[in-house]
Amino acid sequence: MDYEAIREVDPAVADALAGEVDRQNDTLAMIASENHVSEAVLEAQGSALTNKYAEGYPGERYYAGCEYADEVENLAIERAKELWGAEHVNVQPHSGTQANQGVYYAVLEPGDKILSLDLNHGGHLSHGHPANFTGQFYEVEQYEVDADSGYIDYDALREHAEDFDPDIIVSGYSAYPREVDFEAIQEAADATDAYHLADIAHITGLVAAGVHQSPVGVADFVTGSTHKTIRAGRGGIIMCDEAYADDIDAAVFPGGQGGPLMHNVAGKAVGFKEALEPEFEAYAAQTVDNAKALGDQLQERGFSLVSGGTDNHLVLVDLRDSHPDTTGKDAEAALEEVGVVLNANTVPGETRSAFNPSGIRAGTPGLTTRGFDEAACREVADIIADVVDAHDDEDVKADASARVSALTDDHPLYQ
Ligand SMILES: *Cc1c(COP(=O)(O)O)cnc(C)c1O
Repeated sequence: MDYEAIREVDPAVADALAGEVDRQNDTLAMIASENHVSEAVLEAQGSALTNKYAEGYPGERYYAGCEYADEVENLAIERAKELWGAEHVNVQPHSGTQANQGVYYAVLEPGDKILSLDLNHGGHLSHGHPANFTGQFYEVEQYEVDADSGYIDYDALREHAEDFDPDIIVSGYSAYPREVDFEAIQEAADATDAYHLADIAHITGLVAAGVHQSPVGVADFVTGSTHKTIRAGRGGIIMCDEAYADDIDAAVFPGGQGGPLMHNVAGKAVGFKEALEPEFEAYAAQTVDNAKALGDQLQERGFSLVSGGTDNHLVLVDLRDSHPDTTGKDAEAALEEVGVVLNANTVPGETRSAFNPSGIRAGTPGLTTRGFDEAACREVADIIADVVDAHDDEDVKADASARVSALTDDHPLYQ
């Protein structure tokens, strides 16, 4: 990746892009929502389809010249149907947030009620946070995880739903390390005659590979981002039964978006094809095994994990027991210095603030893409533990940097 054409016109951007490739090669991408797509997906996203206006849907576009756009979008749709088993798929949402917007716009009126998980407990901004349009256009109440166990309390959720009588219940989370019981949430939705939106942004790949239970066929709507565990490049997706197909399609375009980002739809098509290969199942299973190894070793080193472990691709560390004077931001900054890139995160029962919370979240999708196994992830856990234990010690950090370099050299990413 030398960015020759860009370098001719714009050396500053070429330098930044090359710098970003080096950064990804030389550091550990442990932000749980991130991954590394293949060079094939990168090529699709950098293709001439960025030029094409294709408002509408395959076979019914508002513009001429859409034969290749149609072919690409149909391939993305067919492959998504095969991956997740949905009756209807819309691959045009520009991101996961736009996918959620499409669902809300399709079935809710302003002022309708959303019941969703609190952001501090692992929810997402687009589920009704006051700073997001959803918090302003709809009436929102939130459920929480159980303070002691860290698990979603499905009985409490159902009671909350019976009290609040929501129009839609949202499941699917950004920082929840456990398997989600979508059927239990569907029962709460049935009991109150509410829609159920399962936002599987983080676990798209795990669900596609069958290593996490699927909400498809259970919830009314399933949304996701396509750049997280499914590894198909930046974008969003909505899945639903045929009965909602027209409403969802109209809510995405013209309801909330103009022309689709056809180059990104091409990225989705290519990434989905890769995910249909048998190797992807192994990838998803290894991602979970790696998160368990990472979590086990962190616990060995004295760290507390929210819920006591993980069933998926991420661990959420609550620093308050083991490191009461170290905030999530302190840990994030020290780890970034040594090449471990993860994020500070709120934890259930947060006693600090969203800007300087008490936890860190760490995921294994990116590491697993570059070939890390459980032993490598235990070494990563030791690096994290050494640095957080002594985050002002320059010798410890120099040693940690060298160990990160050894790991990245052993697991090359982009050439
Ligand atoms: C990442 C995420 C989204 C969507 O994020 P985008 O950045 O808009 O793609 C939506 N919901 C959840 C639960 C997420 O984790």
